[in-house]
Amino acid sequence: MNDLILKKTTLIIFCQIPKEIGVVEAATMSVNPSTAYRMLKDFVQLSAGDTVIQNGANSAAGQNVIQLCKVWGLISVNIVRDRPNIDELKIFLKNLGATHILTEQELSKTDIFKSKAVSKAKLALNCVGGKSAVEILRQLDHKGVMVTYGGMSREPVTLPTSALIFKDISARGFWMSRWTKEHQGTQEQEIMQRDIAQLLIDGKLRAPVHKLLPLRLYQEAIKNTLNAKGFTGLKYIFDFQGLDSST
Ligand code: NAP
Repeated sequence: MNDLILKKTTLIIFCQIPKEIGVVEAATMSVNPSTAYRMLKDFVQLSAGDTVIQNGANSAAGQNVIQLCKVWGLISVNIVRDRPNIDELKIFLKNLGATHILTEQELSKTDIFKSKAVSKAKLALNCVGGKSAVEILRQLDHKGVMVTYGGMSREPVTLPTSALIFKDISARGFWMSRWTKEHQGTQEQEIMQRDIAQLLIDGKLRAPVHKLLPLRLYQEAIKNTLNAKGFTGLKYIFDFQGLDSST
């Protein structure tokens, strides 16, 4: 029992949120900003000017990767699926700080890497899988690392043999829940939470595009989120304010 009380107390201490942070940012900071932060910190030693490539760049996680890359001086190459309003999406991601934004089709034809306008990536972040994962992996430098953290296409990740033999590429995985469990109460976790909180306060990290929804309208969120085709375009966040026993 004492153990349980202690654990709960510890959790509260480490989850204290500065009051300047908005409710949506506070509600989401331990998920996508933390995921982006860890993936950029823990797999490859990155320095300003290094390149990171990611697919699903318009996802909430991807939006955080873009913003952190900007803060840390990294070049981000951001891959999204084509859509009727692609120009609008590109402008949005550019305004977040994206260095390059390409559709999956544009990535297969681009010469930004061949022409050396952009150096090959040290890190690839994959939340899609299938062909999209292979295409970002192809843009990795020798000894580059691809981190898979999602599988939105529901297709497996396949690694070209040549990338393993001739480029010594590594494929890793990341799960924020496991990291949190293994690092609960550590200095590393405290530093990350402090950094993210400060970036939110400074306006250098913004909440993802979202819709705040009262819990009674949960069906809209569930229906749109479970749509396997994607193109949802926003994150649903439940608003528990005003919730009473009749809701
Ligand atoms: P989100 O904001 O809801 O974005 C979903 C992303 O997936 C969008 O970029 C969307 O692109 C893409 N997508 C959806 N359906 C797709 C399909 N059929 N084929 C290809 N792309 C598709 O999601 P999020 O919260 O950032 O999470 C993104 C992924 O990361 C999810 O798989 C989530 O489970 C994972 N995640 C993992 C961790 C971890 O610790 N491992 C942490 C956070 C998130 P379109 O706009 O083109 O549909």
